Amino acid sequence: METILFLTHPDAGKPALEALAAAQELGGQLIIGLFGAEVQTTANQWAGCGAAKFLGVIGNEFTTARYATDAAAAEALVKAAQATIVIAPATSRMNRILPGVAHRCGGRTDTHVTALTATSVTRWYYRQRMEAVLSRTQRPWFIALDPGCHAPASPAPGTATVTIVPVSLPSIRTTVTGVKSPEASQQTIRPDAPLLFVAGAGWTKKQPDGQPHVSEAADLILGFLNATQASLGSSKSLVDLSGEGQAVLPFMSHLNQIGQTGATPRHPKGLATCCHGEEPHVVGWRFINERRAINLDANCGWARGKADVLYVADAFAVIRKVNELLAGK
Ligand SMILES: Cc1cc2nc3c(=O)[nH]c(=O)nc-3n(C[C@H](O)[C@H](O)[C@H](O)COP(=O)(O)OP(=O)(O)OC[C@H]3O[C@@H](n4cnc5c(N)ncnc54)[C@H](O)[C@@H]3O)c2cc1C
Repeated sequence: METILFLTHPDAGKPALEALAAAQELGGQLIIGLFGAEVQTTANQWAGCGAAKFLGVIGNEFTTARYATDAAAAEALVKAAQATIVIAPATSRMNRILPGVAHRCGGRTDTHVTALTATSVTRWYYRQRMEAVLSRTQRPWFIALDPGCHAPASPAPGTATVTIVPVSLPSIRTTVTGVKSPEASQQTIRPDAPLLFVAGAGWTKKQPDGQPHVSEAADLILGFLNATQASLGSSKSLVDLSGEGQAVLPFMSHLNQIGQTGATPRHPKGLATCCHGEEPHVVGWRFINERRAINLDANCGWARGKADVLYVADAFAVIRKVNELLAGK
């Protein structure tokens, strides 16, 4: 029987509950390993998850992400659990340490996993164009499950007994002074939103009156986002324009880019506006379940099997009307 360690920092949110649910389904002996300044609160929230035991590494050094301390904590937990399979949520903090910890423990790691069974994992290659199912004989096997791929667990809370695992601290040369993230992404990238709204370069192009209407475009897009709380995606052409210093859409950054050289987000629905629907862009829509697009051009890429519904229409007019309806006018 496999010994499955579910390994995470306590503040991993929904991705942790998703990976926990995947770990619960594997059927081996489940152990929870938590590292952070304080782990008892999370352990209590998950008390009824079916784990045989809870292990913890605690200390102020483990409050924020730092490779040296996170990797030391994770290594200690894996060895204390004598885990044969280690499952972690693919947060940036876990992704950063997992391969290194696997190496220290003589194991192997698979990242960006989208599904798993007791004997195999599934992941995508070549920017989500090919899907592969892999299995490994090497143990411990470290698996990072991507967010949005599994329904989250809902463990019953209670009182968990956490066994504290000692860690000999490595020399610490990095001081974490804070977190800086781009304002644009903070406001507009919402991974849990039911809808992905994608803006393309057409919003900045000359319109039928021969003039571009960029500030109106910005107002329409922000009006829609504020009313729906949709997540904002972009085509490469639009974010490249923004990056070249043109006054385009100030709330847009390269982090919003969807596609082959951009992100592959997961949302139940997507609406592309003023975006042509070319393959390098649409490949980033792999995990969007229902796709709609608004384009003036009836021969755009979306019309060729890339969208479920294409509205051949002026996106300015459509979104203006939709915003009015959303405002109850
Ligand atoms: C190696 C490689 C990697 C790439 N990676 C990516 C990637 O990750 N992501 C990505 O997006 N692209 C990527 N591209 C670029 C991609 O091929 C396209 O050039 C890009 O997606 C085009 O962006 P767009 O559709 O916004 O702009 P355009 O092609 O300029 O299309 C604008 C569209 O807006 C429509 N339009 C204009 N006004 C209106 C209006 N009022 N109402 C409705 N529609 C209107 C036009 O009809 C047109 O179809 C990559 C290319 C290469 C070669």
